[in-house]
Amino acid sequence: MSEFDLIAKIKAQTARDEQAGVILGIGDDCALLAPPAEMQIALSTDTLVSGVHFFPDVDPVDLGYKALAVNLSDLAAMGAKPLWCSLNLTLPTADPEFVQQFMQGYLELAKQYNVALIGGDTTRGPLNIAVTVLGSVDACRALKRSAAQAGDLIFVSGSLGAAACAVQRRLDGAPEIAELSARLNRPQARVELGLALLGRAQCAIDISDGLAAELSHICRASGVGARIECAQIPIHPALSAHTLPSEALEFALSGGDDYELCFTAPADQLAEILKLSTELGVNISVIGEITTSSGISFNLSDGALYTPAKVGFQHFAETNQAF
Ligand code: ADP
Ligand code: MG
Repeated sequence: MSEFDLIAKIKAQTARDEQAGVILGIGDDCALLAPPAEMQIALSTDTLVSGVHFFPDVDPVDLGYKALAVNLSDLAAMGAKPLWCSLNLTLPTADPEFVQQFMQGYLELAKQYNVALIGGDTTRGPLNIAVTVLGSVDACRALKRSAAQAGDLIFVSGSLGAAACAVQRRLDGAPEIAELSARLNRPQARVELGLALLGRAQCAIDISDGLAAELSHICRASGVGARIECAQIPIHPALSAHTLPSEALEFALSGGDDYELCFTAPADQLAEILKLSTELGVNISVIGEITTSSGISFNLSDGALYTPAKVGFQHFAETNQAF
């Protein structure tokens, strides 16, 4: 099958009713888009590399879903509304079955958020998927990493650590636990929460590389510190059930692939934010406070301080384990 046949298949699978703001979609040299009036465009892109971001034998349907989910998570962390996306596929062979299944997962999520696939690129090489998402946001209200202020409460959505534990079990040859793997394979981008936080929170980041690393990005960008109560960190129940508390905490702080939101807001917003938890059906935990000090302290319930063993995933670190 040729590159053009593959693109035609993708286009056919994508074909839908007219989509908001798409003047010209797949098929020309460029897509033409009409941004919503009075809004700014939020753009983010993320690449998934076989053997680095996913196991090479991953289910293609899950891979398609995740490729879009991790990008939508970035829009969520900005409080942006998803509008459009593009898809760059690098494939070792022109495998129509793989593409069909990949697109099934990808388009399932695209449909859920009414995100139009407006273009992309298809090339041959080691399996690699790059997605770009575009959304709309009022730039004055966007949730920026640099907007945390001393005294703000620090919140985390959902629960942490499950995906990283699923990866570790696979690397260790331990039996798979479906609830943990589900979090790795089908992360939930917190799009609705990101939108609902506009006007209530000012600062957010999505947790892709572990809570400790993401918090340090917020602190550096905002010129603040943080105090975290480890006992308040929401650990995924299946993780608690299968590991010691100290291991679970380590997965939650230093693991990755959670795609929950970490955000900060003034204490007077607490009640409103907790109300969102019920309205949206998303757990929201208060895990600490932004401080004027430099650095982050992780307090254990016995008063001791905890030091995460490794702070997040860094692509060029020498200790990385391959998938
Ligand atoms: P060009 O040579 O101008 O880059 P291409 O042949 O790469 O054009 O692509 C033709 C059309 O198909 C373009 O509109 C492009 O955006 C779209 N396209 C190519 N690959 C993909 C893909 N993987 N997903 C969605 N659209 C794609
Ligand atoms: Mg091209």
